[in-house]
Amino acid sequence: MKKLIIPVAFAITLFGGANAFAAIKVVTTTQDLESLTREVGGDKVTVESLAKGYQDPHFVEAKPSFILKLHGAELLVVVGRELEIGWLPPLINQARNPRIQPNADRYLDASSAARILEIPTGQITRAMGDVHPSGNPHYWLSPDNGRRIAQEIQKKLAEISPSDAAYFGQRYADFDRRLAEAEKRWQATMAPYKGVKVVTYHRSWPNFTDAFGLNVVGYVEPKPGIPPSPSHTLELIQEMKRQQVKVIMIEPYFDRKTPDSIARETGAQVIVLAPSVGGVKEVTDYFKLFDYNVGLAVSAIKQTGAK
Ligand SMILES: [Zn+2]
Repeated sequence: MKKLIIPVAFAITLFGGANAFAAIKVVTTTQDLESLTREVGGDKVTVESLAKGYQDPHFVEAKPSFILKLHGAELLVVVGRELEIGWLPPLINQARNPRIQPNADRYLDASSAARILEIPTGQITRAMGDVHPSGNPHYWLSPDNGRRIAQEIQKKLAEISPSDAAYFGQRYADFDRRLAEAEKRWQATMAPYKGVKVVTYHRSWPNFTDAFGLNVVGYVEPKPGIPPSPSHTLELIQEMKRQQVKVIMIEPYFDRKTPDSIARETGAQVIVLAPSVGGVKEVTDYFKLFDYNVGLAVSAIKQTGAK
């Protein structure tokens, strides 16, 4: 086939300017990865997320538009650890884009350099209903993992566009510096509340609670991905009364009915945290994710006198 040559001036008009023409098209599965890619990639990338932060990332409704986005992607960044296994693989299959297939060079699993908690030691399969068979996939909820993810993205972008390697390196260094400053602020805010006992709905928060010293003593779900049952709820209420737990952290995509009834029984407060960028409308980037969650956790702890 004869190669189609588009005159440069025409191409620039067509694709909306020199920058847009050169930008690497990145697709991420979540808005957290989108935000971190934007931090590092600046105006050398265009980036969009498939899932929205207010959706349960385990169970995202696939849209035909996702396939089109994946088809045009020059880099796909995923959370991995089987978080997206229920919806992403068929989309990648249909995208007709060999470079973003798992293990291909434009498929970046962001968990590769992250610190992963709750890696099962025994035999755990999804058949048992547990949606965390490869360790906890909500690892972006510690700032240090945000740093590690951003660094992986930086390396990959530099590999894709070596002439911009210094630019991505400088953006990463700047992000790292601002994150370190923000971490000092978040740590100082949380410092008086180390060891405070909380209950969470899903196991979304081990990296968050680990980073800030909160103590998770139970879950509204009997197992990750398994809806609350009356017997489990009763046990949880008894345990919360015994340990005087006053804060229940939930995600915006779960039904409040069970956590609200547990709160009535125990005198606890239910707080709806943002599990991702985009989880609530105020949380528009990775920094605001922690600003919001730290702020909400501290105000609930103060109001309830939780210990
Ligand atoms: Zn999960």
